[in-house]
Amino acid sequence: SLSKRLKTVASFVQKGARVADIGSDHAYLPVYLIKNGTAQFAVAGEVNKGPFQAALKQISKFGFEHAIQPKLGNGLSVMEGESIDTVTIAGMGGPLIADILDEGKERLTTVKRLILQPNIAADRIRRWLIEDSWELLDEVILKEDGHIYEVLVAEKGNPKTLYGSSDVEKEIWLGPKLLREKSHIFMEKWKRELVQLEKIQQQLYVASESENMEARKREIDQKITWLKEVLL
Ligand code: SAM
Repeated sequence: SLSKRLKTVASFVQKGARVADIGSDHAYLPVYLIKNGTAQFAVAGEVNKGPFQAALKQISKFGFEHAIQPKLGNGLSVMEGESIDTVTIAGMGGPLIADILDEGKERLTTVKRLILQPNIAADRIRRWLIEDSWELLDEVILKEDGHIYEVLVAEKGNPKTLYGSSDVEKEIWLGPKLLREKSHIFMEKWKRELVQLEKIQQQLYVASESENMEARKREIDQKITWLKEVLL
């Protein structure tokens, strides 16, 4: 059955949605959404031929050719000529997801909802959402097979609704809602990160005797201060 990670993404797709799943690989998510009767139609977009072939195979295995359109193409370009109201992008790094959204911006004007699952650097997506006037509606942190994932849900609107504190940079980094909830998975993730940052901090203090790394040092110090406020 579908991974907990992709089930979490699927749980934010609304009934009757017309979905573009970008970087769909085996098209597991579109197949699940059609099988469950959640989505009405889906595009399974892939930039690479191998995963595209895997998507074709999976779609025909279920006989879903009427409801899932596989497309070979980069990012949001596969939305060309389709009427799409929901975009899902899962299983990639935050910077790549943000780049895909930014490059395809003009195709998002008729899209209602974005459901994004970065493997790393969710802050890059939160920043892009704010800059492009998308409202972060919900965020979830989950753990599966020892990996911790975040899922972000956004719709066009007031980008600052979920952001409450005076320290927006801290909220962008940790997630405004996740930071308020402080679930045990959230605490686990950032405790690990604190250990890593303290190692880097030590190395920087040693190295900086010969090199100028003040900006990097300040960034690490700030992040450690934030994490100590949150975790301790
Ligand atoms: N979305 C699936 C999931 O979450 O399980 C597959 C994730 S897989 C790790 C990432 C997929 O994104 C790969 O199949 C890769 O070919 C595809 N990909 C990477 N960059 C892309 C882009 N710019 N446009 C479309 N697909 C892309």
